[in-house]
Amino acid sequence: MRRSRYYLPTLRETPKEAEIISHRLMLRAGMVRQSTAGIYIWLPLGLRVMDKIADLVRDEQNRAGSHEILMPTIQSADLWRKAGRYDDYGPEMLRIKDRQDRDLLYGPTNEEVITDLFANTVTSYRDLPQLLYHIQWKFRDELRPRFGVMRGREFLMKDNYSFDLTPEASRHSYNKMFVSYLRTFARLGLQAIPMEAETGPIGGNLSHEFIIIASTGESAIWCDKSLLERDVLSLAVNYDNEAEVAEIVRSFTEGYYACTDEKHNPELFAKEVPETRRYQGRGIEVGHIFHFGTKYSEPLGAMVSDANGNRVPVQMGSYGIGVSRLVGAIIEACHDEKGICWPAPVAPFQVSLINVRVGNTACDALAEKTMQALQAAGVEVLYDDRDESAGAKFSEADLLGFPWRWVVSPRNADSGTIEIKRRTEDEAQVVPLEQALALLTNSS
Ligand code: ATP
Ligand code: MG
Repeated sequence: MRRSRYYLPTLRETPKEAEIISHRLMLRAGMVRQSTAGIYIWLPLGLRVMDKIADLVRDEQNRAGSHEILMPTIQSADLWRKAGRYDDYGPEMLRIKDRQDRDLLYGPTNEEVITDLFANTVTSYRDLPQLLYHIQWKFRDELRPRFGVMRGREFLMKDNYSFDLTPEASRHSYNKMFVSYLRTFARLGLQAIPMEAETGPIGGNLSHEFIIIASTGESAIWCDKSLLERDVLSLAVNYDNEAEVAEIVRSFTEGYYACTDEKHNPELFAKEVPETRRYQGRGIEVGHIFHFGTKYSEPLGAMVSDANGNRVPVQMGSYGIGVSRLVGAIIEACHDEKGICWPAPVAPFQVSLINVRVGNTACDALAEKTMQALQAAGVEVLYDDRDESAGAKFSEADLLGFPWRWVVSPRNADSGTIEIKRRTEDEAQVVPLEQALALLTNSS
């Protein structure tokens, strides 16, 4: 992609309305613009990141044996009345009327719609277990939308729903999602800590939030530091093996103190966690999982026949990840004083290619050749081909935060070498194009 042709409305000034670093950086880097309170337009750079997060989330959902569907954003109020939640949900729900004066709503979550779908399509225990998810926009009329996309009113969520015959089987579905969440956040470059949580308006009796540490987070957290050192991706997971999955969950929940202020008990914290391992700070909720049994299946008639021919309500759970919130949360976790430092798996481009002397024949030729070589190798590159000062290009590259900066300059162009540097390191090296390509492909 050529920078001169790209749609990238960056900002020089730090926008006043942005309270936290991720919001400021997202606006300055031309990733989003606010359309109206808590509602954002995603610009090409921001959308690339959000799409990558969604794809990675999708990959881990599928790996755990879930199937993707797509439910509508607009829902019938009658379904919510039937489940008994329409009046309870409160002012966060956006209630709408159609031209026939029927009550509709913009979905803040999808338990009702999917339970109704299930009731109309599945009748036998033989069709269980089932894990169905979608990645869809939600609307919650938050009292205080703030922090940019981290607490929006319209936001993109991955929500998964499990259906099982027995509470034990349902616990296995819950455990599978627990482990797939650990893997998902680790692949995104984040260390997410599972914490026992309250169930709130979703209901139920078992729930964990997944929280990443950030000083600007809305949740106060207390945990055992050793949870932050666990290597999740090296665990071999066989999702069909109930005992193995349960063991991983156990190893992340038992014997480790980790909770938000909802559950915090200062005496227990002091008693259970040695002083050197106590962490107290703030965090961002990036995921939340719930087991709630038959809370929705009973009122909405999601019944199956069991092996003895008895009709029983299915056991359910729901599992959410804040996909659009994660864009901001990753920036909160990965930035420095100059700008964003994207983890490679979600970086909008892998390389900022800078031609410091546009118009110089040798520089232009080498930069073009480099861009084509990167594209041929399947590496996403943004080539800054504008007639701007080198300084402006370097500071923009730091702001946008792609993992690599490759510089073509008159000093090196004649010898066909490029100065390459990682975003998170100070040391650059000058190497021939082939070697630069080899370094990049070996590193990712
Ligand atoms: P919070 O406590 O932050 O208000 P919640 O507990 O109401 O969130 P859930 O119903 O658990 O949210 O939704 C699942 C996920 O969706 C959350 O873990 C979070 O990552 C994301 N999410 C929830 N509300 C918002 C919002 N207003 N803006 C962006 N993402 C959100
Ligand atoms: Mg929550």
